[in-house]
Amino acid sequence: DARLKGENAIGFYKENLKSETERKLQINQDFPEALSNKEFKLYFQPYFDIESKRIVGAEVLVRWIKNGVTIPPSEFIPVLEQTRNIVKLEDYVIKETIAFIEEFKNKLNLIPLSVNLSPTSLMDDDFIDKLISMAGKLSQFINIEITERLFLDKLNKAKSLLKKLRAKGFRIYIDDFGTGYSSLSYLSSLPIDCIKIDISFVKKILEDEKTKAIVKTIIYLAKQLNLFTIAEGIETEKHLTALKEMGCQIAQGFLLSKPLPKEDFLNLLKNH
Ligand code: C2E
Ligand code: MG
Ligand code: MG
Ligand code: MG
Repeated sequence: DARLKGENAIGFYKENLKSETERKLQINQDFPEALSNKEFKLYFQPYFDIESKRIVGAEVLVRWIKNGVTIPPSEFIPVLEQTRNIVKLEDYVIKETIAFIEEFKNKLNLIPLSVNLSPTSLMDDDFIDKLISMAGKLSQFINIEITERLFLDKLNKAKSLLKKLRAKGFRIYIDDFGTGYSSLSYLSSLPIDCIKIDISFVKKILEDEKTKAIVKTIIYLAKQLNLFTIAEGIETEKHLTALKEMGCQIAQGFLLSKPLPKEDFLNLLKNH
């Protein structure tokens, strides 16, 4: 009957809403203790020059290890981004990254590390000043990955901020390129070094001619603008070969290496 159906529908909706809200609250509530307990761990996913097959850098990807269970960033980053907690987490990620570089810069042939930063942190002047002073000369080993979301509201502020970081020696990578608020016009006016082609495009290049055309065009355009391109999410030799033929220089993906915990990453660098 209609009344009962309605009741059930309301009950179902309420229950889901409640658990979703609760989940978010719980994550933000657990965060401070998790941070001080060092439950957040840095993983490192190397990326490779396609031609020489050498490791030319690695992306820092954070994981939350809670009672032996690994929580992926897709679960907690968007939730932390709704509060200032994301700034605290990224402050920690940056500190750990700098400590890593400090520790190994004289022992290994160190490659640059890419750190993902959310728009909230990037728009925070104190965060940026702290980042600059903590990194000092080590900024030459740090790439900052940003997404197109950064340009949504405050394009001019974003531009001057990227200029400032670049002047201090950091390099700027645009992450997940093509999935957000992409505008070809800003590519020529932004102070950036690299475009990372999103995994969703890479996945489709073998089957879909139109996607292939888009990826080819992105790579061509990047070359014209003196930017280099990294293809994300390379899982097969066929994808790697196709991207190489399209002129892409750098590849990242499970075919080449998964994100690795610190010890495994160090072993890989030592044997490289
Ligand atoms: P992202 O920056 O685009 O990072 C690449 C993601 O693709 C990583 O997922 C990586 O594990 C995954 N990946 C790499 N190669 C392959 C592949 O061949 N196949 C597939 N299916 N996936 C591949 P992960 O580590 O789960 O991170 C997801 C997202 O979380 C990242 O996407 C990034 O946006 C965010 N994230 C991670 N760490 C941080 C951080 O410290 N700060 C911020 N703001 N975001 C972070
Ligand atoms: Mg990234
Ligand atoms: Mg990406
Ligand atoms: Mg991505």
